[in-house]
Amino acid sequence: MFDFDDRVAIVTGAGGGIGEATALLLAEQGATVVVTDVIPEREAVGEAVEERGGDALVRELDVTDAGAAAGVVEDTLETFGRLDVLVNNAGIFPTATLEEMTAEEWQRVIDVNLTGVFNCTKAALPAMREAGYGRIVNVSSAAGGHVGWSGDLSHYAASKGGVVGFTRSAAIDLGPDGITMNAVVPGMVDTGAAEEVADEEAIEAAVAATPVGRQGDPEELAAAIAYLASEPAAFVTGASLVVDGGITLV
Ligand code: NAD
Repeated sequence: MFDFDDRVAIVTGAGGGIGEATALLLAEQGATVVVTDVIPEREAVGEAVEERGGDALVRELDVTDAGAAAGVVEDTLETFGRLDVLVNNAGIFPTATLEEMTAEEWQRVIDVNLTGVFNCTKAALPAMREAGYGRIVNVSSAAGGHVGWSGDLSHYAASKGGVVGFTRSAAIDLGPDGITMNAVVPGMVDTGAAEEVADEEAIEAAVAATPVGRQGDPEELAAAIAYLASEPAAFVTGASLVVDGGITLV
């Protein structure tokens, strides 16, 4: 699909779902992958990356910790000597109506989903600027501006809309240094995560409202991320690639 030979990629939230699928696809295309997450499942994903022929480095990384993000980049450079790709995928999606939502819950979602993207980007930038090359892909959500989806996701929607705005402005800043930044905007993807926040009926309704009539597979998101992370995507920056089976059209 794409040639990631000699490319080194950090993927956040790579212990499962879209992040895992992305780590594995990049490895299959020749990339060295730094698999990061807060959950221990990251270790198995690191092993799977190696089974696919990629070098892997596995690190615990909470994206809300700017110092830890800088440490992962430092380890990456020490081990592999370069950093070409950053996939800001880590995210949480708790639900609460505005009445139920505490300031702490609001802040936590913003911290992980939006400030986490900022922290990891800041950590990656010095090496990318020095190399004059970088591909940063941020995972937003259709809930961030395309669909309302439900009334109990306002913190999540704000964080994911923020990711799109961040992507558009930062892309202007980064372009002259050979660094692109883009977002993918998933619709409903079958990672098991949606089941944690939505009941079966709500998922069925979302599927019924999706023109292609099903949820997306994590691998379909991984393919979109891989494109934006690839060398041939050099002329695409600040874009939001909607990968949603058409749910945002109707
Ligand atoms: P997931 O829960 O499988 O993946 C998210 C990962 O982020 C998990 O492995 C989790 O441990 C990790 N994570 C959580 N908090 C973290 C933190 N503080 N630091 C580092 N990692 C942390 O769910 P997923 O569906 O694969 O979601 C991946 C991304 O896609 C998320 O940003 C999510 O908002 C977005 N998304 C998913 C869907 C969907 O329908 N599944 C739709 C739109 C957007």
